[in-house]
Amino acid sequence: MPDNQTIIDAVQAEIETDRDWLIGLTRDMVRIPSVNPKFEPNPAINREADVQALLEPILKQDGFRTEQWDALPGRPNLVGEWAGDESCSLILCGHIDVVPVGAMKDWSVDPFGGEITNGRLYGRGAVDMKGGVAACIAAARAIRKAGITLQGRLAIHSVVDEEAGGFGAMDAVKKGKLAKAVLVAEPTWGDVLPVEGGLEWARVTIRGRNAHSALRYNEIYPQRHDKDRLEPGVNAIEIAARFIAAVRQYELDRTRAKSHPLLPLGMNTINIGVMHGGTGLGEHGLPTVMTNPAIIPDVAVLDLDMKFLPDENSADYRRDFEAFVHHFAQTDAW
Ligand SMILES: [Zn+2]
Repeated sequence: MPDNQTIIDAVQAEIETDRDWLIGLTRDMVRIPSVNPKFEPNPAINREADVQALLEPILKQDGFRTEQWDALPGRPNLVGEWAGDESCSLILCGHIDVVPVGAMKDWSVDPFGGEITNGRLYGRGAVDMKGGVAACIAAARAIRKAGITLQGRLAIHSVVDEEAGGFGAMDAVKKGKLAKAVLVAEPTWGDVLPVEGGLEWARVTIRGRNAHSALRYNEIYPQRHDKDRLEPGVNAIEIAARFIAAVRQYELDRTRAKSHPLLPLGMNTINIGVMHGGTGLGEHGLPTVMTNPAIIPDVAVLDLDMKFLPDENSADYRRDFEAFVHHFAQTDAW
């Protein structure tokens, strides 16, 4: 039996031979817009299913037994498997959804063109992570072409909905699609990150007291209050500004106090990703009026993306964060 290095060299050589094929596959994937519909619902660009339809026959050709199922309505996961020993089974995992392209004027290339300039392939998802999914498939293909039979079971998971919570991969787990080890081909600048932390999303809703902006002088220059006078308004957006400053401090304290030896410092950050301010809390959890600056707003809603370390868990993290919010509320004058 050849030694490990001989096997690695043989696979590497096949990868080199198929270089253009791999680039072509990445490009074909980039050219199918698969924007996560949770961010931008539009069937013309929510084409995750078409990416899976592109990949499935390729996996079949390489001898994978394939399966697709809807992880979310109309949004299929694709799994390919080579049978083998369970005790050394491995999943190569990647997601095929991408985030929206944002403002078109900021793009110098077609975001779904897959243009190659100066040795780089450009387009939404080229790096994160259609390139990674293509690399997983190319690795398996190279193994097959090198005539190597793996002892362990190898699976390729092409999943949907990573960018909005990871519900594609979670659904694969729920279906029992597990293995002894998983390699996720997310971009890390080539660093091997052997552990991964967790993620919590939270919404913080701040309530103030609404009033006409003409009454703001009551807030800034406190007036004498008797029973005939209206109470001054309380601007929820200003409370949110104080809250954001407090979150920043909380984040700094956490990253200083806690880190993981196998991860870079500062992996447990908090991103304030969305903010809505306005008047009247609607049933959908957002202000109903967000167009009138002449109102002292009584609602500010913040959506946070909070990362935690591998040795922490969701429940403890939430409890910590809720305690922080509670403390903020207790110490804020309003
Ligand atoms: Zn990604």
